[in-house]
Amino acid sequence: MNSIKHLASKTGKAIGEFKLIDEGDKILVGLSGGKDSWTLLHVLYHLKKKAPVNFDLYPVTVNPGFPGFITAQISEYIKKNLPDLNFTTESTNISEIIDKHITPGKSICSFCSRLRRGVLYRIAIENNFNKIALGHHADDFIETLLLNQFFNGRIKAMTPLLYSDNGKNTVIRPLCYVNEEKIIDFIKTTDFPITESKCPAREEDRNRVKIKNLLAELSHAFPGIKSSILSSISSLDTRHLMDSRYWDNKESK
Ligand code: SF4
Repeated sequence: MNSIKHLASKTGKAIGEFKLIDEGDKILVGLSGGKDSWTLLHVLYHLKKKAPVNFDLYPVTVNPGFPGFITAQISEYIKKNLPDLNFTTESTNISEIIDKHITPGKSICSFCSRLRRGVLYRIAIENNFNKIALGHHADDFIETLLLNQFFNGRIKAMTPLLYSDNGKNTVIRPLCYVNEEKIIDFIKTTDFPITESKCPAREEDRNRVKIKNLLAELSHAFPGIKSSILSSISSLDTRHLMDSRYWDNKESK
C-alpha cells in the first residue's frame, strides 16, 4: 500500500471509530508547518474528496513569534497547491509571554502548547469553525502516556476527541492510529515546505526525547510493543487498578 493510501486508511478508521467528522463540519486545521500538521492537512484534503459527508477545511498557522519562524512559504504553498483552501496566519506574542512567565523546572513546550491552543480556540469561535483538527499521531499518544506515568504518576494520554472545558470547542486528532515513521516516509515523497520552529525549547523537552529513544530501543527487541501500548489506552480494566473511584464491587466478586 502506498503512503497516502496507508495514511488515509488509518485516518479513515479513526474518523469512523470515534465519529470525528460529521456532515457540515467546518474544521480548523492547526498547521504549525511541521511534518505532522502538513500530513494531517493533506490526508484530510484527500479524504474530503471521497468522503460520504461534506466538510470544509480551514488551515490556520499560529506564529508564536520565535525568531526565524516564517509563514510566507506555508502561504505560498497553499496558494499554489491547495488554492481552494482559505488559509489564515495569526501573529502572536507567545514567545514574549513564555520569556516573562515561564518558571524554572516547568516545561516550556506544555506552556507554549496551551497558549497556542488558546489562540486556535479563539479563532475557531470567532469564525464558527466547529472543530479543530490537530496533527498528533500514535507516537504522541504513546509518549504522552509514558511521560505521565514516569514523571507525573498518572495514567493519562491523549484522546482523539476532546471537548474544551467551557464546551465551546471540539478538538479532533484524526492521526491517532498513524505511526510517526509512516509520516516520515510520506513526507519524503512530498515537497511540503517544512517549517521547523526556531524556538529556544527545541532541545528542552528532553524527557520526551528520552522516551522516544527508549521506545525505539524497545521496539527493536519487541516489534509489536508500540501498538500494544496504544491498544492499552482503549482497553482499560479499571477493576484491576488502584483508583477506587472506578471500582465496581459487585462485578469484581
Ligand atoms: S518545541 Fe517550541 S514551538 Fe513547539 S511546543 Fe515547544 S516551545 Fe512551542
